[in-house]
Amino acid sequence: HSNLLAQFKKKKYFCGDFSILIRLKTIFNVIIMSNIRFDALKMAWEHKPVVFNAPTEKASVIFAQNVFTREKMKEYIAGDILSELFELMDNEKTLSRDIANSVAIGMKKWAMEQGATHYTHWFQPLTGGTAEKHDAFFDFDSEGKPMENFSGSVLYQQEPDASSFPSGGIRNTFEARGYSAWDPSSPAFVIGDRLCIPTIFVAYTGEALDYKTPLLRSISAVNKAAVVVANYFDRNVKRVTTYLGWEQEYFLVDESLFAARPDLVMTGRTLMGHYSSKNQQLDDHYFGIIPERVLAFMTELEVEAQKLGIPVKTRHNEVAPNQFELAPIYEEANLGSDHNQLLMSLMEQVARHHHFRVLLHEKPYGGVNGSGKHCNWSLGTNTGVNLFAPGKNQYQNLQFVTFLVNVLKAVQRHNALLKASIASATNAHRLGANEAPPAIISVFLGSQLTEALNQIKNADVDKGIIINAKKEMKLGVGNIPEILLDNTDRNRTSPFAFTGNRFEFRAVGSSANCAAAVLALNSAVAEQLNLFREEVDGLIEHGKAKEKALFSVIKRYISECEAIRFDGNGYSEEWKEEASKRGLDCETSVPLIIDKYLADSAVKMFGSTKVLSLAELQSRCEVKWENYSLKLQIESRVLGDLVINHVLPAAKRYQTLLLEKVAHTKQVFAIEEATELNKQDCLLIRRIESHASAIIAGVDKMTQLRITANHIDNQRERAIAFHDTIVPIMADIRKHVDELEMWIDDQLWTLPKYRELLFIR
Ligand code: ADP
Ligand code: MG
Repeated sequence: HSNLLAQFKKKKYFCGDFSILIRLKTIFNVIIMSNIRFDALKMAWEHKPVVFNAPTEKASVIFAQNVFTREKMKEYIAGDILSELFELMDNEKTLSRDIANSVAIGMKKWAMEQGATHYTHWFQPLTGGTAEKHDAFFDFDSEGKPMENFSGSVLYQQEPDASSFPSGGIRNTFEARGYSAWDPSSPAFVIGDRLCIPTIFVAYTGEALDYKTPLLRSISAVNKAAVVVANYFDRNVKRVTTYLGWEQEYFLVDESLFAARPDLVMTGRTLMGHYSSKNQQLDDHYFGIIPERVLAFMTELEVEAQKLGIPVKTRHNEVAPNQFELAPIYEEANLGSDHNQLLMSLMEQVARHHHFRVLLHEKPYGGVNGSGKHCNWSLGTNTGVNLFAPGKNQYQNLQFVTFLVNVLKAVQRHNALLKASIASATNAHRLGANEAPPAIISVFLGSQLTEALNQIKNADVDKGIIINAKKEMKLGVGNIPEILLDNTDRNRTSPFAFTGNRFEFRAVGSSANCAAAVLALNSAVAEQLNLFREEVDGLIEHGKAKEKALFSVIKRYISECEAIRFDGNGYSEEWKEEASKRGLDCETSVPLIIDKYLADSAVKMFGSTKVLSLAELQSRCEVKWENYSLKLQIESRVLGDLVINHVLPAAKRYQTLLLEKVAHTKQVFAIEEATELNKQDCLLIRRIESHASAIIAGVDKMTQLRITANHIDNQRERAIAFHDTIVPIMADIRKHVDELEMWIDDQLWTLPKYRELLFIR
């Protein structure tokens, strides 16, 4: 106590009203609130202020310090091997074991110089996270002498016990083998004491058990399809790269408050909590001054990310209290996706140094904004052209419009599938709520681009095209270059927006592996570009000039993809009606959205682009359905425990207090006066009773429904049962709990409240 008191005297400021409570408790030693919540608040308060340490070195100096980059390869790998290695890294070629051995020697030398004692394959199973299993370099040589060993074969391929990773039935128990194999296109890195080697993870039979494998296949499919189309415009295009720039949103919460909320600990979100009187309505958090303690966390995170070669660039406060965002400079999509996975684990690690926990859940709190992960996506050529950037002349703009319109077509044809690619139990809380993209995929283009497309649609193919001496094509649609360069048009409600030189897929969930969304988008676009090429080539074979052929197919596409274009308010009720009239997918049940992976169009699309086979799609769906049910099963159990162990006892205690007061009043006052004086209390006792009984009945029913759902063998049916029965009853129970929180004496409430979770920083 004296220690704490001394600290009080030293502190110049307090964190809101809690400090007063803490002072009272300390000085007078009175019980002023539940011990668990009190201790949590006390700890949260003691965690500040934090000393902010500016990085000692420039980002450009520390960047990729812990990555085995090409520069470092040059230093550690022999010349002839090096050129072969670079060749295969650039051209998706297969690695030979000889090369692997030579690379392993150099890699080990470098890693040990960075302090690594262990190595691990680093892969991304369908759990959504990353997986590693560390092996020491330590070994014995042929004469039994201890040594540090790392051979090409372990760099190249390993066989982690795959039976404990989700496989959706691809790998049945007697064939449990799974292989992880080196992906040389994403560089190895050292983190802590281990060398991490990015790998794919596949079954014995070659089917993908991870996110990276199909992502790589999709990148390759887009490359092939886009090169052919880009060659209509420029023969020098040999390669088209997919780029990804993600924006990661997240919440921070003090670790002591976090620890006192079993729902946050176990499910990553609050399953109950009365809304805070003040939350985000004043818009005073967005782009506000970053709190010092948070800045200290961000700074350390950025330094660690930079060392791992993650080119972090932008940071800011997000809309909700205690919500923030981090974005890097965009990268090649495979690397970008790896970096996002890496960053998410880094965040959790660094947050602990600052007594924070990071919440990556899409909706940690009701009533305030949730978190997404905007995936900025574009295609670029080896000639340095961004295929979604308006060009300098009209010929380049025809290329721009070609790629743009093909994306629109792809998104329209596969809007249901793209929604499936971002659907999850956790993201379901965010989509369709009044803050995030709706559960309908549409594309925002902005008024100027819409106008330009309309002009092209109405232009006359024969009259509109003039090829002049410089081989420039005039479209007869006025000044496209000028209008298109102004891309300040914005629409925050769109799930898929064109933002000047890229598309921004905003519906992706904050905790998701971005590969799931990117690979679906890539495959859809690859398939579409293949179809486009077939159509254009068909016309050319029939004697149409190339430009006219291109122009006429584009014109038709513009008309055909009008349904997907929507620039209005995506949050509005009218849009839901309108979207369904337009034939866009409006399903909101996650288990049914997942079905779209198995729709004929999706199976055909993934098959023709060789990204996912039917068996792989089926297994992925099984994993998704199972994951959905398990998440809800856990949430529903935690909710049951919390109301029985925390909420109802608090309600009963308060009722008892009120009843005592009522009884005492009767002893002191005459009956009429006592009745009058007790009126409000009796009302409150009844009110608490009615909520408490509703909660008990709800929990009983929920338990029964859960048992019923758990007994369903079919994963899809089980997920549907969880969605249809457990989700609504959980919401119903929560309503009553939140009411009780409002009526019950604050001293008796055991769980940290929203106003504490959201505002202590
Ligand atoms: P905003 O919030 O306005 O969308 P941010 O700066 O937060 O902007 O994030 C934009 C993201 O888009 C960054 O990750 C950036 O690197 C990325 N980006 C920019 N240009 C491209 C592009 N051509 N392709 C892919 N990503 C891009
Ligand atoms: Mg953005």
